[in-house]
Amino acid sequence: MSKKIVIAGAGIGGLCAALALAKRGFQVAVYEQSLHLGEIGAGLQLSPNAMHVLQVLGIADEAKAKAFIPASAVMRHYQTGKKYFTVPLADTARQKYGANYLHIHRADLHTVLKCACEKLNVSIHLGQAIRSYQHCPQNWDPNNLTLRNLTIQFENSESLEADVLIGADGIKSHVQSCMLGQTPAEFTGQVAWRGVVEANKLPKGLIQSNANLWVGPGKHFVSYYLRGGDLINFVAVQERTDWQKESWNEPGDINELRDTFKGWHPEVTELLGATKSCFLWALFDRQPLTQWTDRSVALLGDACHPMLPFLAQGAAMAIEDSYALAHCLANENDTQTALKSYQNIRLTRTSNIQLAARKNAGLYHMSSPLAQAKLAVLSGLSNLGISDRVAVNKLDFIYAYNIVEQLN
Ligand SMILES: Cc1cc2nc3c(=O)[nH]c(=O)nc-3n(C[C@H](O)[C@H](O)[C@H](O)COP(=O)(O)OP(=O)(O)OC[C@H]3O[C@@H](n4cnc5c(N)ncnc54)[C@H](O)[C@@H]3O)c2cc1C
Repeated sequence: MSKKIVIAGAGIGGLCAALALAKRGFQVAVYEQSLHLGEIGAGLQLSPNAMHVLQVLGIADEAKAKAFIPASAVMRHYQTGKKYFTVPLADTARQKYGANYLHIHRADLHTVLKCACEKLNVSIHLGQAIRSYQHCPQNWDPNNLTLRNLTIQFENSESLEADVLIGADGIKSHVQSCMLGQTPAEFTGQVAWRGVVEANKLPKGLIQSNANLWVGPGKHFVSYYLRGGDLINFVAVQERTDWQKESWNEPGDINELRDTFKGWHPEVTELLGATKSCFLWALFDRQPLTQWTDRSVALLGDACHPMLPFLAQGAAMAIEDSYALAHCLANENDTQTALKSYQNIRLTRTSNIQLAARKNAGLYHMSSPLAQAKLAVLSGLSNLGISDRVAVNKLDFIYAYNIVEQLN
């Protein structure tokens, strides 16, 4: 009897894990609470460390065909536009790390993952929210191999038996609460506005074909192209405590957003001037966890390591998790041992990135004399190219990591 693996959540993490497991021959069923399958209308940066996994899953080219490849990542002063650093991407990233750096619409990546899952007969069940799980050791009977050791309960009171449960159910994970007790994620005192604008609404060439990062007191702004340059995605982050809704679909007030970034560089203000609508949501994260598994249950993605988006690595980490999880389950007969190895492979890396993303908030928001001094040094060294090298070295620990090579 092959292992029956249930995944809670059909986000990028859940679908990527389903695909990685199905590629290894497992029988996988995904249960998603929403009635409709999809992702929000926003962009995602996918760094080479994530692209290695998409390559081995056979979907990198399809993702690339729907994406935009940025020339560089550039950090600049919010008013003067003075550069702090430039990190070359495009061909440089491909040659250096062996994979592309992409900007992709979330819905496009989600569709690619969903279609690949369907081709491998992953069953995806919508409108099914998982509430909790229970191990049932009394089920174990060596003479009856159809018994499963895990019972999964749904919000609608139905239940299901399985061998393995993966909680990929996001930052408010029920699987995590059941495993570790209620430990809600923490509000970080920051909110993010996001929007997507058609590129033809702006003067050609105004928005540079980079990952553009503008930093200013208490705020920062990121913009980049999607879909071969047809769309421009932006994320505007502001330190603010009066808004704590963690919903991806809460409309923001576009005039308030324009006011918030008034006086910023024209590349920012003109982009916001061309924007008709936006969304606003509060940013949450949590201290790194020390446990992600409980016998035949494990967590993945934001369910175990939600992070601030200031290194653009949340989805990338869920993608790396997926490969490691499938590798461990395929190479170890005992589920509990496999899940423990998965946790051991992933925990240090994701914890380091969670903490590094938090640290970037101080720098991006000029929030302390030390952060201001660092920015002054970066700015002073930028003409000599030294700040570029400092930034590249800092990002290398993220981008140069190849989980596929690591585990083979
Ligand atoms: C502003 C912003 C920008 C970002 N930019 C980037 C970026 O550029 N690059 C990057 O790599 N990352 C980025 N991230 C992070 C990234 O979006 C997340 O880390 C990633 O989406 C997490 O995926 P996930 O599948 O783990 O969780 P989610 O995307 O939250 O998916 C969880 C799924 O589980 C479902 N679910 C929830 N509860 C249940 C339940 N009880 N039963 C069944 N289903 C359930 C949900 O409906 C959802 O479909 C950004 C995040 C933010 C906030």
